[in-house]
Amino acid sequence: MLNDELKSLSESACSMITEASAVAEKLARDLASVASISKDDKSPVTVADFAVQAIVGLRLRDCPIVDMVGEEDAARLRTDDFLLQEVLAAVRTAIPEAQADDILEAIDSGNHEGGPSGPFWTLDPIDGTKGFLRGGQFALALALINDGVVEMGVLGLSHWGLHSDPSGATVRPPGSICLAIRGAGAQGWSVDRPDEVTQLQVAEWNADSILRTCESVESAHSSHDASASIVEIFSGHEAVRLDSQTKYAVVASGAADAYLRLPTRPGYIERIWDHAAGALVATESGAIVSDIHGNELDFSHGCGLERNRGVICSVPGAHQRIIDRIAEIGLS
Ligand code: AMP
Ligand code: MG
Repeated sequence: MLNDELKSLSESACSMITEASAVAEKLARDLASVASISKDDKSPVTVADFAVQAIVGLRLRDCPIVDMVGEEDAARLRTDDFLLQEVLAAVRTAIPEAQADDILEAIDSGNHEGGPSGPFWTLDPIDGTKGFLRGGQFALALALINDGVVEMGVLGLSHWGLHSDPSGATVRPPGSICLAIRGAGAQGWSVDRPDEVTQLQVAEWNADSILRTCESVESAHSSHDASASIVEIFSGHEAVRLDSQTKYAVVASGAADAYLRLPTRPGYIERIWDHAAGALVATESGAIVSDIHGNELDFSHGCGLERNRGVICSVPGAHQRIIDRIAEIGLS
């Protein structure tokens, strides 16, 4: 993909994620009135998830690349008019002219299957929906994948400031945006100061340093017991738990040294929208991202990371030691 083309696509991607993040943040401020339902797999989905996917789907109509692998579809909204009206009201705070039919179509434009060839977007409209619902961290995550390679990633982090202490209480707005373009580094800025761009860089770390890790709040998403056995080998350790791909940004900005995502059950396949944008932000900041066996994440197998198990994102000095320790404790 040409540099100019990527640059122009990244400007569009940042603009739509900034716009949609503002809508999500407004909804997060008034959680009591945010309609939420359970999906078939029992995971929650809210008005915010649908509204963000609708806004991105609508804005992508003006882009040269429209194919999108999105987490949500509009099936439920087609049979639940109350929910549809709530989503429409949220979308209209950003795009006043939006119509119900438009947003159904825009959400369903996220039905691309992904795969090894051609360019497509992948979107997690609200990554960490459970975090969103508990007033914690969540991320809007949009990535561009071409021929199986992640070329660009944008994270909208409404509750995360770039210089925040990850162990602190939930960070309130203004929040931040992180952008990575493959081979060109990663940058972040506060949404209220878009002209003050910070180059993201992982922390300096050596074998005598303590290892500051982050992991999911949800023990069903990443084994807390396994992470406790891994960090034992380091000179010292600290862990914070937070929802969503914010964890990748925490490592990218140097506020933690590693993000561990350790399988909790056989057969779970990570979804590309849960990792594409965040993993590029982290690698372009100097982190190494692999699965728990040290293999590169392979985004060329449709919507799942079929060839990988779990994720380890770490400062370079600690990565191999974590992979070796995983082999030693027999995690698979
Ligand atoms: P996090 O906020 O890091 O806990 O990750 C949230 C994401 O975890 C959701 O978007 C889900 O797609 C994903 N997820 C759901 N079940 C599992 C599981 N068993 N293992 C790993 N990730 C999961
Ligand atoms: Mg997700």
